Amino acid sequence: MQENIWRKDFPILETKVYGKPLIYLDNGATSQMPSQVINRIYEHYQKEHGNIHRGIHYLSEESTKAVEDTRELVKNYINAKNVESIIFTQNTTDSINIVAASIGLENDGGGIVTTEMEHHSNFVPWQQACKHSGRQFFVSPVVDGELDIDELENILKNNSIRLVACAHVSNVTGTVNPIKRVIELAHKYGAEVLIDGAQGILHLPVDVEELGCDYYCFSAHKMIGPTGVGVLYGKTDCLEKLEPVRYGGGMVDEVLEENTTWGNLPYRFEAGTPNIGGIIGLGEAIKYLMEHDVELIRKYEDYLLNYAYEKISSIEHVKILGHPAKRAGAISFVVDGAHPYDIASMLDKAGIAVRSGSHCAQPILRTFDVTATVRVTPNFYNTREEIDYFCQTLDKVINMLRKYSI
Ligand code: PLP
Repeated sequence: MQENIWRKDFPILETKVYGKPLIYLDNGATSQMPSQVINRIYEHYQKEHGNIHRGIHYLSEESTKAVEDTRELVKNYINAKNVESIIFTQNTTDSINIVAASIGLENDGGGIVTTEMEHHSNFVPWQQACKHSGRQFFVSPVVDGELDIDELENILKNNSIRLVACAHVSNVTGTVNPIKRVIELAHKYGAEVLIDGAQGILHLPVDVEELGCDYYCFSAHKMIGPTGVGVLYGKTDCLEKLEPVRYGGGMVDEVLEENTTWGNLPYRFEAGTPNIGGIIGLGEAIKYLMEHDVELIRKYEDYLLNYAYEKISSIEHVKILGHPAKRAGAISFVVDGAHPYDIASMLDKAGIAVRSGSHCAQPILRTFDVTATVRVTPNFYNTREEIDYFCQTLDKVINMLRKYSI
């Protein structure tokens, strides 16, 4: 595989941690930004910052244009049909909460299905919406890190279901779910589908038209953009049916003492001043990916993840969670005789950033009968040498921890 041609664009990777070169393998939690994105945000605040959609002065118009240009970029990036389908939110969690809270206001009585694989962000909002609205809450099972599609179909067949909420990619095992199949099944039984794309949007091509999903949610900060910005994609006919759940400026048509009418899509779901600089940063992140051959980026990521998988699996006492048919972004493992927190904190002292804990995904961890794992999530700016160093250090750390624990 060729040399890493993107790494030089990510200045944070030059950082030294405790005097050692940083090896950042926690991209599943948040990715790093290239200089192009950092500079664009800086430039926005230096030269064009004004509030959007509400002024007719130069700065307001420049900022509005930059935000609306980003909406168009997002639309093209995920191949949405309409720009009205792209709603800017704070993050994936926020996008899901908007849909869940709104569906919680309806009274058609249909149930909601999530899966055991979900991040808490795609679990708790639905659970709570069901609790408050009296809808039934179903959790479709996961076996060895993969969805049990037959069980999902049984739930759909035997119950009236309003919506299925499912991850594109698991943030724990890296399982790439057969979402096209999930969407087809849900539609067959009359349910809508929301895809949590937090871990999918960077590593996989996303074509919402081709997938046919009703909603797709993601965060800018997991795709080399800034924190504080997310996207809720919704088919326009689905969004038209949803009641807004956030009220205020920018989302209304007419406000009378006795009632208010809503503005058009997408603005009716964007109450208040959004994260303008962050949205513009997201636009620049998308431009970066498109201009730097996103296909090649994904090929390289695949290669690096497989390389890491092979090397980590060959380390003694390590057990990787799940053996999915297709994996993206993440490898989680436990070690016989060493706790994930101890491993992560010793790796940190060697300059290596990994995640340890439950990864906001307790239900799937329970399916493996563990309460915490170590998780490694490389991105396209990582290198084979970093994986080698990580594995050598991990091996040493395991030996040291096991020696003192026995
Ligand atoms: N869904 C998945 C699969 C995730 O991995 C995460 C974050 O790690 C989220 C949702 C929540 O993302 P955010 O914190 O950006 O809202």
